[in-house]
Amino acid sequence: METAKTIESVRVLVKAARSEGKKIGFVPTMGALHVGHISLIEKAVKECDFVIVSIFVNPTQFGPGEDFEKYPRPLEADLDICRKGGVDVVFVPTPEQMYQAENLTWVNVEKITEPLCGRFRPGHFRGVATVCAKLFNIVGADVAYFGQKDAQQAVVIRRMVDDLKMPLEIVVLPTVREDGGLAVSSRNKYLTEEQKKDARLIYKSLQKCREMIEAGNTDPEAITAEMRKILSQAPSIQIEYVSIVDAENLQKLDKIIGRVLAAVAVRIGPARLIDNIVLDIKKQ
Ligand code: AMP
Repeated sequence: METAKTIESVRVLVKAARSEGKKIGFVPTMGALHVGHISLIEKAVKECDFVIVSIFVNPTQFGPGEDFEKYPRPLEADLDICRKGGVDVVFVPTPEQMYQAENLTWVNVEKITEPLCGRFRPGHFRGVATVCAKLFNIVGADVAYFGQKDAQQAVVIRRMVDDLKMPLEIVVLPTVREDGGLAVSSRNKYLTEEQKKDARLIYKSLQKCREMIEAGNTDPEAITAEMRKILSQAPSIQIEYVSIVDAENLQKLDKIIGRVLAAVAVRIGPARLIDNIVLDIKKQ
């Protein structure tokens, strides 16, 4: 496995792989790798001949007062996971390589970045879309792998690739969960055992949503009210949003029908946690 620290070195390695006719897979991450990331790496290794993982804590997707500085950066452990996972190249750029002193070109995906996390993290998706566009241009992969855990991010990236005619396929893989249902996240490290227990209510609220919809309830207000009740069982949980939206355009629904995304964002202690499920409701 190669660890590439510069844009030029990644390009040279990918060019060589491509000249051998290899299918190039790419897994962009911020590091602090866990079983969620590993599921993406495994899929990429299975489906592609040459796999690149990037590890870059992207400053432009963090807002003021967010956890950019304290975001975990266990590089040696991450490299070990990649090595064991069969990754060919780990790309670890510095912020200076990714951004000039003043970055003048930004990717703004409209509308679908406004609801859900977009409301609570202004500028976040501009940072995400911009860094992904840069990484896609650097790596030149055939396929990039993302997790359903960050549902809005996956929708935004798919749309950016589609709108800008970027020549790569986006694959979105299911959310990996701990026992008890909590979605695995690098930010779970910020939680005490007690807070982690409380955090299980997030998945419990999503399961309640699934049950109600499967029982034929089509009223988003009634369902989100029940979800909120479950989340309020833990005083440590501060709800940011509980929403049921169209899974493609992320707009609010009056009635639940078609492919819907039920999404939750909460704060527990120092952590901001998100989770979601997608349900496909057949038209009656
Ligand atoms: P991050 O390092 O948090 O930027 O995440 C890198 C990629 O891993 C993103 O595509 C995430 O959606 C994905 N990911 C993070 N957590 C999980 C999880 N629990 N299950 C599946 N994918 C995940």
